[in-house]
Amino acid sequence: MDQTFKEGNWTPSQWMDIFDDMLDSELDSGDQWTLTFNYSQTDHISTEERRRGWRVYSHCATGKFRCSSCSRKWNSARVVVLFRYRLRGREGRGTVIMRPFGQACLRCPDDDGFDLPGFTDKAVENTLSHLFGKIRKNCYEEEDDDDDDDDDDGWSVCSEKVWTKPHQKDLCEACLEGICCQDN
Ligand SMILES: [Zn+2]
Ligand SMILES: [Zn+2]
Repeated sequence: MDQTFKEGNWTPSQWMDIFDDMLDSELDSGDQWTLTFNYSQTDHISTEERRRGWRVYSHCATGKFRCSSCSRKWNSARVVVLFRYRLRGREGRGTVIMRPFGQACLRCPDDDGFDLPGFTDKAVENTLSHLFGKIRKNCYEEEDDDDDDDDDDGWSVCSEKVWTKPHQKDLCEACLEGICCQDN
């Protein structure tokens, strides 16, 4: 298995491929689940959306960035990945919508926009296995065995041992939107 970072390049197909690979073993349901992307969604779920079955799950992952202007690279253990998901049981269709949060380069803070993270396959698998756990619990009413709280929506943090500098909130898109990883 490829354990190298995708060199700081955001690679949606990597997530889609691993999502598809994990589906059969993680969700043995016969329902058709798809992963799509939305780069502006928030963690807010309205009452109406919740009634229609939408849930949200945020994960704090380790990723690697590369500045699109100066090519500087950096690691971060606080990369926020936000998912919305719902199952339309009668149609047998499940939808997951993902948003990765970016970070801005230390050297080029005036550069417009954030760079999006690259991930190792392992980080993708780890993130998705937590997501599938939430889906099993909230869409299929299975027990969530690695859950230590009763919150439907929530956080989990995977701590891969990667050396990173202290988190710079002013360069983090998730911090600016007020939904960055909780300190523990
Ligand atoms: Zn830069
Ligand atoms: Zn942050």
